[in-house]
Amino acid sequence: VFDMLVVGGGPAGAAAAIYSARKGIRTGVVSERFGGQVLDTMGIENFISVKETEGPKLAAALEQHVKSYDVDVMNMQRAAALVPGDLIEVKLASGASLKAKTVVLATGARWRELNVPGEQQYRNRGVAYCPHCDGPLFKGKRVAVVGGGNSGVEAAIDLAGIVAHVTLLEYDSQLRADAVLQRKLYSLPNVTVITSAQTTEVTGDGSKVNGMRYTDRASGESRHIALEGIFVQIGLLPNTDWLKGTVALSNRGEIEIDARGQTSVPGVFAAGDATTVPYKQIVIAMGEGSKAALSAFDHLIRTSAP
Ligand code: FAD
Repeated sequence: VFDMLVVGGGPAGAAAAIYSARKGIRTGVVSERFGGQVLDTMGIENFISVKETEGPKLAAALEQHVKSYDVDVMNMQRAAALVPGDLIEVKLASGASLKAKTVVLATGARWRELNVPGEQQYRNRGVAYCPHCDGPLFKGKRVAVVGGGNSGVEAAIDLAGIVAHVTLLEYDSQLRADAVLQRKLYSLPNVTVITSAQTTEVTGDGSKVNGMRYTDRASGESRHIALEGIFVQIGLLPNTDWLKGTVALSNRGEIEIDARGQTSVPGVFAAGDATTVPYKQIVIAMGEGSKAALSAFDHLIRTSAP
């Protein structure tokens, strides 16, 4: 039986595991892919106190730090169900089952992709998903934002202050973002909005993005825009399907947490991109993971027999 079982081995899970292990309690980490989204990231320039690093390097450092403590790391294992109780059970896809007094859920999220030709080829070579992370790389250049919901319009407003020009493309005939954001967007001189646009292809010169193609859904015409960057903002999908019906989730599937990282299930805490915490970033996920582990420890000393 674990005192604290962490599900997820990204920045949030790694931080939770280290905070737990430092309390001298029995700690385990189950992860499908240790390192999480960081493994898919190239340049990281906003990991505070480290001017720049690379995803795989940071992921290796996370693993090394966790493994320097007495933590049972179970990598390449997928959690498939959570059963609440005095002892909380985490069932794995392999058929095995783990029991713990407290659980920290840190299963992260993934960006919804366009699924068009060129997107994978030019990922990190012009195709980006995080304006806070990659916006400054496109200073003075032309970019597109795909997606006219709140996150797309926020991204376009944010980027307009950094890049030369932003083209926002929305599939629907109108933007879905809040009116106040739309007003701000339309007031900016270097933003063009195109609605009824279906993105069909990311184009490039073999090494980096040089534009994108879309179909004007009103006329059926195919058009090409020349640009250097494309920010895909069509949704962030939390990895929480396995928790449906057990832990309270928001309408976007994010695990609902309070200010201490407590979920709707006693003894179960959560952190990082999988939760309702605003802004999905590495430093935020690490802070949240540490906080959830401290809350879980607090729960442990109040509930377990001496
Ligand atoms: P994740 O990193 O998503 O980790 C989730 C972990 O849970 C993984 O180990 C995964 O395998 C595991 N998992 C998922 N489901 C299960 C399951 N059922 N059972 C067991 N394990 C499971 N942020 C920045 O701050 N700066 C950047 O420059 C930056 N660039 C980015 C670039 C890209 C391309 C991407 C995709 C993201 C970027 N981010 C950046 C965002 C950052 O990576 C995330 O905010 C951060 O990784 C979230 O950490 P997390 O631990 O909550 O989740």
